[in-house]
Amino acid sequence: MTNARTQPGEDSKAIAGESPCFAKALAASDIAGIRVCNLSEDEAIAAIERLVAAGGSHYAAVVNAAKLVAANTDDKLKRALLEADLVTADGMSVVWASRLLGHPLKERVTGIDMFERLAARAADRDWAVYFLGARDESVRGTVERLIIAHPKLRVAGYCNGYFKASESAAVARAINESKADLLFVAMGSPAQEYWIAENVGLAGVRFALGVGGSFDHVSGLARRAPQWMRRCGLEWLYRLIREPRRLWRRYLIGNSVFLWLVVRQRFLGSRQ
Ligand code: UDP
Repeated sequence: MTNARTQPGEDSKAIAGESPCFAKALAASDIAGIRVCNLSEDEAIAAIERLVAAGGSHYAAVVNAAKLVAANTDDKLKRALLEADLVTADGMSVVWASRLLGHPLKERVTGIDMFERLAARAADRDWAVYFLGARDESVRGTVERLIIAHPKLRVAGYCNGYFKASESAAVARAINESKADLLFVAMGSPAQEYWIAENVGLAGVRFALGVGGSFDHVSGLARRAPQWMRRCGLEWLYRLIREPRRLWRRYLIGNSVFLWLVVRQRFLGSRQ
């Protein structure tokens, strides 16, 4: 995907081979119909650096079990994931599934970890960053904390994620006018994947990433699961205990359907 801010001589295909989709040029594991890139976190960050340097507008998405299940019945989400330049495993269950399917992913590469590392990288590289999503105090708190952590960080702007669909194009144009290089979108799924796929070109950023509830965590308004739970792949359980009414369907039904999809793929092969 290219846009008006692409510089002469810049060509996204230079890094993507003949494929318009960077992910297709990388080793990947097909999980429930989505190609999840087999990259370590360091490799994912390096790949994103190359996307930023290549010019044009690119985006990455992270997937957990619930998102892969949703993409099975939601064509718009599926298309957004298939057209992403990079897809990584946000949930440990996706890594376990890749092992069961015989194409093991190196590791989990979460949205929030990439977000924090890319914010640091942006400060080093002088990339301007725009933050879109979450409630006002959350997005503002995120920006404040990141500026304290990285005083050289160039903030192109920020906006909460509670705008009407009819205001989307205006939000994207405002991002374009801000001359942001990176865009982080924290509006939850599938809203953030839809928004990025539809608007990344209009927003004119070099790279966009959907980061779910990350602004609530980075701002300190919500707590992330302790390290040991993250290591054991139990972050979902921590979140379920804290917000059972909102999340029980996503995790209990979502994880069961995901298991079924993976087992079916393992024994009957991919339907793709
Ligand atoms: N959110 C938003 N706009 C909306 C609905 C939600 O910006 O219309 C924000 C919400 O404030 C929260 C994030 O989206 O910060 C959703 O977080 P969630 O934990 O659902 O994300 P996940 O990482 O689980 O996809």
